Amino acid sequence: MYMNKKTELRYDLLTNDWVIVAPKRKLRLKKTNDCPFCNIEGQEKPILIFNQGKKVNDLKKWTTVVIPNKYPVFNLKEKIKEKKENKFHLKITSGGFHEIVVTKEHNKPIVQLSIKRIQELISCYKERYDELKNYDFVKYILIFQNHGKEAGASQDHPHSQILTSPLIDKELSIILSNSKEYFEKNNSCLQCKINKEEKKFKKRVVFENNDFIAFCPFAPKFLFQVTISPKKHSASFEEITEKQIKSLAEIFKEILIRYNIVLDKPAYNFYLHSAPCKEGSCSAYFHWYWNFFPRISKLAGFEMGANMEILTITPEDQAMFLRKKKHV
Ligand SMILES: [Zn+2]
Ligand SMILES: [Zn+2]
Repeated sequence: MYMNKKTELRYDLLTNDWVIVAPKRKLRLKKTNDCPFCNIEGQEKPILIFNQGKKVNDLKKWTTVVIPNKYPVFNLKEKIKEKKENKFHLKITSGGFHEIVVTKEHNKPIVQLSIKRIQELISCYKERYDELKNYDFVKYILIFQNHGKEAGASQDHPHSQILTSPLIDKELSIILSNSKEYFEKNNSCLQCKINKEEKKFKKRVVFENNDFIAFCPFAPKFLFQVTISPKKHSASFEEITEKQIKSLAEIFKEILIRYNIVLDKPAYNFYLHSAPCKEGSCSAYFHWYWNFFPRISKLAGFEMGANMEILTITPEDQAMFLRKKKHV
């Protein structure tokens, strides 16, 4: 009975945070011995199939595939509805997409894939992004990967997820508003400025190529967090070019190699921050980026209560370790 409940987004009046209540997702934790992604034919009908960088129709040839999530956070058929509990607490129900991007090899995480195969993965992200942004109820598209149990991966087989949201979360709202304010004062993009300052300062830069800079942020959320940002101003991931996809694949691999060496193959998460889908007005001041987080520290009482991480290694030293591929 409990499992029939719909997914709801609930709003916290005290903090402006949103929380997603999705009881059906609990079903996904039922353990099976067989890997569902090794048996891709037994899964939901594929949305997109790639073979060595090219789109194909034959599932037998797959090297990367996009499939709908069997246990989606949102039900696609749901309509957007706002309700108030006792005319007080706000909750929203909404339709939404939840897709999985699977790479073929069970035992090959991204770090072991060739640059060409990582390019293929990023091309899948982009192709789905281009499609999903067109739906009315899609305000934001989150693309992310959880690698390892500590990072929340419920399957060992490497896979990423694409999830659409009907609203803009608190953190993104704050980034949008700060970036807008900076643009109005300085007539330039805040992230472009941050990227330039990092390049000039050098000490927090981990790796760069012609198109991207990867650095440990000045005030990160977690130890060894790395931000990867395009050097050329661009608000949305959908604007990525073929050449940039190749550069981004190279930088993904570089960062993950460094994590493996310096942090001894940690669990990690990475996610995309891109402009909200129907906010054309932010194209001058929003700047997309990826954030990588190795899961090496645990949140304790202080971090949760004060919402502030205590970093035991300076971001400058974190970057130095990653740059030199030197074990911590
Ligand atoms: Zn598998
Ligand atoms: Zn910019």
